[in-house]
Amino acid sequence: MIELILASSNAHKASEFSELFDSSKVLIKPASEKLDVLENGVSYFENALLKAQSYYEKFKVPVIADDSGLNVAALPNDLGLYSARFGGDGLTDRDRAELLLKKMEGVIEREAFFSCVLCVYFNEKEIFYFEGRLNGTIAYNYRGQTGFGYDPVFIPTDKAQEGLTLAELHEWKQKHSHRAIACAFAYKFLSERK
Ligand code: IMP
Repeated sequence: MIELILASSNAHKASEFSELFDSSKVLIKPASEKLDVLENGVSYFENALLKAQSYYEKFKVPVIADDSGLNVAALPNDLGLYSARFGGDGLTDRDRAELLLKKMEGVIEREAFFSCVLCVYFNEKEIFYFEGRLNGTIAYNYRGQTGFGYDPVFIPTDKAQEGLTLAELHEWKQKHSHRAIACAFAYKFLSERK
């Protein structure tokens, strides 16, 4: 069995992760302490590496880190790597999602995708990356109760006909999200690693 600590303090992400790996083969444990990592990389890959490296240097055990965000075609400089900080400090997830809807008022081009990059850091010489994406569009209003972040304003392409947001698709999200796809790649690799 492989044990990894999760370099994240986001409780929602931690619970999504724990459901995405078969714990008899790959056990993901929370870190015993939260580290404040400056995420100043220029890509999801760099930010995931920065988080993994900081936790590895502190705890000296294998780490899994993720960096993720929502990429909105009509607002190329606003979200992406800065999704968690969109609109500035002091906003709630709901405030940020509502702000996104406001900025998208009257915008016809509503394509967007979520990205997730995982960095599995065994040591300085063994570092592996896995990526997942989820395509969709930005909704016209806020809907749904589950998930976190921009889930209530994101409609996956596969659910466009029903017009359901990710926050109305809890079970579907667990199997098909950007994080689920990246974790499936990581799980396959880790469970086959000798
Ligand atoms: P990170 O913690 O630096 O990876 O920030 C990622 C940010 O992207 C989160 O705070 C959310 O705003 C957004 N995000 C990433 N994944 C999801 C998701 O699955 N649903 C909704 N929002 C997400």
